[in-house]
Amino acid sequence: MPVPGTVLITGTTSGVGLNATRALVQQGWTVITANRSPQRAAAAADELDLPTERLRHVLMDLGDLDSIRQAVEGLPDQIDALVCNAAVYKPKLKQPERSPQGYEISMATNHFGHFLLIQLLMQRLRASTHPSRRVVILGTVTANSKELGGKIPIPAPADLGDLSGFEAGFKDPVSMASGKRFKPGKAYKDSKLCNMITTQELHRRFHSETGISFTSLYPGCVADTPLFRNTPRAFRKIFPWFQKNITGGYVSQPLAGERVALVVADPDFAESGVHWSWGNRQKKNGQQFSQDLSDKVTDSQTASRVWELSMGLVGLSART
Ligand code: NAP
Repeated sequence: MPVPGTVLITGTTSGVGLNATRALVQQGWTVITANRSPQRAAAAADELDLPTERLRHVLMDLGDLDSIRQAVEGLPDQIDALVCNAAVYKPKLKQPERSPQGYEISMATNHFGHFLLIQLLMQRLRASTHPSRRVVILGTVTANSKELGGKIPIPAPADLGDLSGFEAGFKDPVSMASGKRFKPGKAYKDSKLCNMITTQELHRRFHSETGISFTSLYPGCVADTPLFRNTPRAFRKIFPWFQKNITGGYVSQPLAGERVALVVADPDFAESGVHWSWGNRQKKNGQQFSQDLSDKVTDSQTASRVWELSMGLVGLSART
């Protein structure tokens, strides 16, 4: 039987994070939710009638490195699992939006914020006596060119290029990891590629030494979450219909949340270094499998460079 513990989940005001919170709380876990509005997180949890005694809502803006540092100071000494879920997707931006540190906002929120959070929580995860400590990162199909969704050229597939944008400090006028022209939809894909690279690099660096399991997952196409709030109105109408009726890729928010909870807590998902998927076409009673990843995700030299550059860009230089 899985043993409940304490898990920190980022981005729980809606969608996958909120439903993962529900699934884990129902299994007896205590969930620390990390959001830029703990009030909205509490209201969303209340709407689902989640027991308040199993929840603690923390203010953490993942797009702001200072906010993450401040939030971590107030966290308990032992955390058993971490779910890096929060994300922004802003495909209509004409100009890059910047984080307080001056970084392009989707890379700042989705990658740098979580990268720093993981580094700062590593001591607490190490200190945990839970039988299965895990770090779970939300990946996606569009960041994996081994899958059809990862080959879509609109606006371009995920690609970090030669990392010259990171090398140059990633501040204005730089907005892409590759140093190339700003493409907002690609900036999201690149940030998710960084999430998946980070998972693999965490596994390589820390799994055998710490016993912590590092995994990513693609929960399916949860086409009706607020993640798509910045897409054109027509897209928001057609996309869920298309995923339900044409591709068969649609997954409901509750099911996506249950899948995250499995990866956090179920003994069948204990293996480290795996990118879990249930496929792109949902089948009745479909089983999870370890999804093959592209070289862009698995190449250890690129990963090591992404790691070192990310360390510098989040203001850490030594291994924690
Ligand atoms: P969502 O409903 O929009 O959830 C995103 C969450 O992130 C919200 O709670 C949002 O809070 C939070 N967030 C955004 N910016 C933040 C910040 N600066 N600081 C703290 N929290 C912030 O989207 P979702 O579809 O559930 O996505 C969740 C994860 O699943 C993402 O990592 C996404 O890449 C991944 N994913 C989604 C799909 C899909 O089809 N939907 C597929 C594959 C992977 P606010 O209310 O404050 O904005």
